[in-house]
Order: sequence, then structure tokens, then C-alpha cells
Amino acid sequence: MVKLSENKHPQEDFYTQKAPLPSKLVIPLVQHTGISPVLKVNKKDNVQAGSLLARAESLICANVHSPCQGVVEDITQYNHPVLKKSQAVIIKTSKSDYDFSLKHNLDNLSKDDLLEAIRDAGIVGLGGAAFPTHVKLKPLKKIDVLIINGCECEPYLTCDYRMMVEHTDSILKGIEILARVLEVKQVFIGIEDNKSEAVKRFNSKLHTRNYSLPQVRVKVLNSLYPQGAEKQLIYSLARRKVPAGGLPLDIGCVVHNVATCFSVYEAVFLGKPLIERIVTFAGSALKESKNLWVKVGTLVSELFLKEALEFKTEPRKVIFGGPMMGVAVDSLDWPIIKGTSGVLFLSEKDVDLGQEKSCIKCARCVDTCPMGLIPLELARLAKKSLWTSLEEFFISDCIECGSCSYVCPAKIPIVHYVKLGKQKLREKTAKPKA
Ligand code: SF4
Ligand code: SF4
Repeated sequence: MVKLSENKHPQEDFYTQKAPLPSKLVIPLVQHTGISPVLKVNKKDNVQAGSLLARAESLICANVHSPCQGVVEDITQYNHPVLKKSQAVIIKTSKSDYDFSLKHNLDNLSKDDLLEAIRDAGIVGLGGAAFPTHVKLKPLKKIDVLIINGCECEPYLTCDYRMMVEHTDSILKGIEILARVLEVKQVFIGIEDNKSEAVKRFNSKLHTRNYSLPQVRVKVLNSLYPQGAEKQLIYSLARRKVPAGGLPLDIGCVVHNVATCFSVYEAVFLGKPLIERIVTFAGSALKESKNLWVKVGTLVSELFLKEALEFKTEPRKVIFGGPMMGVAVDSLDWPIIKGTSGVLFLSEKDVDLGQEKSCIKCARCVDTCPMGLIPLELARLAKKSLWTSLEEFFISDCIECGSCSYVCPAKIPIVHYVKLGKQKLREKTAKPKA
């Protein structure tokens, strides 16, 4: 693992503000890992906050809802920060307010009621892969350890930290729901040592014993990258190793992010679907870095139009996500989706424009790889288009953390070659099936 410059200041110290309502929202149908849900609205339909726009009708799928009142203006292909292009519902907005005030008593709800509320609300993992949460709560194997990820190890991002500090109680209630559904014996909450305020708040809330939880331990971890990667986190907290090519459930573990726990709480206690989230907007090109509560479907350009964000200087690079695993975009005309944790605006001085050179066999990438891979070989084979040989070097185990590219003195974009290799192998296996 590597120690990175955190760049979390000053946005980590500011209370999360509410972003203004944009004049339109662009809501992609696919905002999760899995199959597209089925569209349930037509052009010119009136919608309310929480109206179902698309229903999950496949196993690995998630509902999509309208974040506010308005009219469906169009249904068309639009920019998508992960898929590049995707079908989206365009809503001309009219009113921001909503009233999700259902009050449930957890004791009156069965396990099936809880699962239904989470599935109906379209909750997906908010820490990265956006896997539908209700599917992760019906594992095919017995789970005995629930791991809560509060690491937020990517530089700049502080949305999870603000969530932990401002909504500790709701997160713990969300954890209570997850622990009840999974029937686990132990819960670990993993938080990096640069977030002492969050650690303090969890420990003090747990001290009140207001929650019906199994054994819970808040564990403070070194702030190293990628401490929050699933397999890494499981080992750091539970000392269990996910086998190569395996999943956490193979060793009785499941991991959920702190923001996902908050959304689970809102779904079950308030009946509120996942229609907004905290997003970090940061970087040297901004006048002020901050965290905002943003409605899903908000275009980044709208936040500048409404003066929620201001440029200090022209950005050289705009990234959806963190600097290590995020995706660079070519304009501000991209929507925030459920899985967007941050948008970075980097000026010239923060963008490394160094030229790729030949590998000097220093092995720094090997020493750094948290998955024990040989990144220089993966890059070499991908450059030579030797796609099938990549499997012998366990390319599928790569979590695309970018640590190898970061430490490489020859500026080889190793993770770019790994992604290319994975894509070529997917195409190869898809062709015979087709
Ligand atoms: S090979 Fe993959 S897992 Fe290993 S450091 Fe590079 S990106 Fe991370
Ligand atoms: S870190 Fe870069 S230069 Fe060093 S062995 Fe790996 S690929 Fe080669």
C-alpha cells in the first residue's frame, strides 16, 4: 500500500450544504452494476419526488426514482460517467421539497419487509461498484461478519467523512438493519486514523447502547491507499483472506460502505428512495472545495450556473471520482449518479503530464500492489496484445486501484493497460457465446 498526499483540507471541516435545485435533471436508467431496469414513464408525464422512473425486473438490477417534482421532458441517450453514454430520463424540475416522514419501528418489520424496503428504494453500494444492496443481502453462503467501510482512502474525497460526523446515529441504525437481515455475529467498522472525529462519534454513540447490534468493534486503520479496497479491508479487520478469484462471501464476510448504511436507514425508517447523496467537489481549480447534498441527475454545469461552485482558474482536468480510480471527463455536461462520490477540478499544476518511458525493472509496482500481482508483466503483455497470457498473471484479481501507475518512475500508465487487457478478454469470452 502507498501513502498519498491527502488533499482533504479544507473541505473535510465544512458542514455539508444543500445544492440548489437545477432547472433540469438527467437521470440515467443504469446507475448500478447489472441489468438495466425497465422504463415506467413517458414523455410529458408529471412526476413527484420518489416517483418510480424505471423498475428493476431482473435479478441484479435497481429501481430508479425521480428526485423531485417536475415533468418528463425527454428520454434519450446522454453522457454517463461510467458507461460514457446511456439512456436517461430528462426531467424539467419544478419543486425541490419532499416529505418522506414514514416512521417505522424496526421491531415490527420482518427480514422480508426490510429487504423489500431496501430493494424498492433502489439502494446500491455507494462506495464504488454500485452493486444493488438487496442482492448483497441475500448471499448464497452463510455470512457471520459484517464489515462497514469508513476508510475513504482516496485523496480529496471527504463525503463519507462528513456523513460519519454529521449522521452517525442514522448510519448505526442502517448497520442495525443490515446486521439483522444478514444475521451476523460480529460487525467491524473500519475507519482510517486521519478521521479521529468520526471514530470519536461512533464510539460515543455506541456507548449509549441505543442500538440492537451484535458485537461491534470500531477499528482504526493506518491511512494508506487502498486501505478501503474490499479484500484489503477484510484482511485488516477480520484477518481473513479472500481466495484468488473468490468473493468476500466465500469467507463469510460482506462489506458495505457507511453512506450505503445511511441510505438503508432512510429507505427503511423514512420510506425514502435513493434520490440524493453527498458529493465532494474539490481541487485547485475551484475557489472553494466543499461537500454538497446533490440530487441524482444534477449536471455539474448546473452547479456552476447556480453559483454553488465557482472556478478560481480554468481546470486542466475534470475527474468523476477520486484521482486514483476516477474517470476523466471532457466537459461539465455530465450527471451525478448514485455512485458519484466526488468531482475533482484540477489545475495545470496538479496534473502530471510526464511522458511514458521504458520500464527500468525497479519492481516498485510489484512491491506496492495490494493484490500481490506483477503489474509490470501485465503492462508488458497488454502492450504486446498477448491477451490470453494475461490470465496466467491473474489479471482478473486486479482491483484497478492505480497504485502501480502512481509509483512507477517510468510514468507507465499500468492500470490503463490492465483495463484494456480486461476489456479484450471480456470481448474474447463474449464472442463464442454470441
Ligand atoms: S496491478 Fe491492479 S491491483 Fe495491483 S497495484 Fe496495479 S491497479 Fe492496483
Ligand atoms: S514501477 Fe514501472 S519501471 Fe518499475 S518495474 Fe514497475 S513498470 Fe517497470
